[in-house]
Amino acid sequence: MIKLFDTTLRDGAQAEGISFSTHDKLQIAQALDRLGIHYIEGGWPGSNPKDNQFFKEARTLNLKNARLVAFGSTRRKGVKASADPNLQAIVDSKVPVACIFGKSWDMQVTHALRTTLEENLAMIRESVAYLKSKRMEVIYDAEHFFDGFRANRPYALKTLQAALEAGADCLTLCDTNGGSIPSQIMEAMKVVKRVLPKAVWGIHTHNDSGCAVGNALAAVEGGVTLVQGTFNGLGERCGNADLSVIIPDLQLKMGHKVLSEAQLRSLTEIAHSISEIANQVPNDRQPYVGNSAFAHKGGIHVSAVSRHAATYEHIDPSIVGNQRRVLVGELSGKSNVLLKAKELKIDFAKDTKATHQILEALKKREAEGYHYEGAEASFELLVEKELSRYKPSFELKGFRVVVERKQNGKDEIVTEATLKIVVNSKEEHTVGEGEGPVNALDNALRKALERFYPSLSETSLVDFKVRVINAAAGTAARVRVLIESRDHKDAWTTTGVSTNLIQASWLALVDAIEYKLFKDSLKRSRNKSDDGPGPAGMDLDRGLARFDRYVHIDFSVPQDRGAVIPH
Ligand SMILES: [Zn+2]
Repeated sequence: MIKLFDTTLRDGAQAEGISFSTHDKLQIAQALDRLGIHYIEGGWPGSNPKDNQFFKEARTLNLKNARLVAFGSTRRKGVKASADPNLQAIVDSKVPVACIFGKSWDMQVTHALRTTLEENLAMIRESVAYLKSKRMEVIYDAEHFFDGFRANRPYALKTLQAALEAGADCLTLCDTNGGSIPSQIMEAMKVVKRVLPKAVWGIHTHNDSGCAVGNALAAVEGGVTLVQGTFNGLGERCGNADLSVIIPDLQLKMGHKVLSEAQLRSLTEIAHSISEIANQVPNDRQPYVGNSAFAHKGGIHVSAVSRHAATYEHIDPSIVGNQRRVLVGELSGKSNVLLKAKELKIDFAKDTKATHQILEALKKREAEGYHYEGAEASFELLVEKELSRYKPSFELKGFRVVVERKQNGKDEIVTEATLKIVVNSKEEHTVGEGEGPVNALDNALRKALERFYPSLSETSLVDFKVRVINAAAGTAARVRVLIESRDHKDAWTTTGVSTNLIQASWLALVDAIEYKLFKDSLKRSRNKSDDGPGPAGMDLDRGLARFDRYVHIDFSVPQDRGAVIPH
């Protein structure tokens, strides 16, 4: 049976732009355990206080599937293993598994460690034996193994033998520099298995040659039973082997049952929640779990998928918890719209008047610069409008936005929006301040609407993007605004296009709010409870707080800064 060893919290934390708090690490460990990962490497105790804190707090996690692993190196040269503070810290972490790395490459021993080849073998042997004497499961990571194997094969093999004879439970071959390719991994596997037939083997690969996943799979074919990697391929330089790809490859392509079917179905959600905790924008093109992994665009292509999914999909996306997406874009044929509509649970037959009408409306909007990929809430509203099933929640009478640079020597910019709307034949006139014009308009609009639609208070705008469509026109160019909104349950994206940035933002903002109200009314009419849990296992408030850190414009101005003008 193949065992999965995750090192997101240790090797993944080495990635550029990653800084996990102890709380982040605990959340990730819980997610990995829920998925069914067998080993979770929590960090390097003794190397920094954050990792020590993690191991202390991790004792309360009650992990159901995973064993926690503490990482470290072999003892220093010239000291006893029992007197080595790094090995002591591993023992003190009180986890059941130790993973220690040692040098396999002679050049690294003589140049980096500056010791003799013999002393390095003693360091490996004594360190493994010491941890075994503490009744720990010991995984020995042979650092730079493949480079060592190429440079001085007999010595590289001797280091493995030293670890095995000292009692290591598993010998992990590490492609530390990530430069190997699958044929080299296969060749080395053949040799090590012949020389040390009794050993249990693991693999740890990096992606510098673009082969991290392929190398890990090649090693499995060659006989390894422990696969190390990180989620979403996080790791220094080009990253580590991506477990969210390796897992379905092992299970669906190679026939190794590593997770239960139910666990495999949570793969996409867990990969995304780890991205969120890591404050990384998920990679849309990531195999299996990426947002675009099962997205279809071209017309013929889409109609083929709608008839028989296997024509353009290598697996059923639901097996890994992902879903098929039909993109509505310029290339769309009629079947795209129909399929999208079906996905939106809008039911109409193929050649009705409504279909033509929606297609015409879509073409007209696209000619104006609208682009509904990634703004599916606006598309849904467009369809509802064309079908006359959509009743706007309010009517705009007018707005004014004033941006003033204060003459107080502090270079302070103040933005104020005044807004007049009619809701249920009542006129509302509100003022909102904000960090910028869109924020001010949002505050003014919410002030006006929340009295009528209290559920709007659950909605926050979490991302705002502006794209210039016809850049050649310079400052008179058309812009497309995308706004992402969330409530406690869903996220949705809306869009607006205009030559005026504020108008484009306003259109996207109105759609965002209309969509929330529309969604709520649908739920009411379907008589479904709206109080279900958010995405499983995710602390949404925290997620949002992190998300806010990389929004392009910050909307998070306290509500009470907008005021209703009495009249
Ligand atoms: Zn590594």
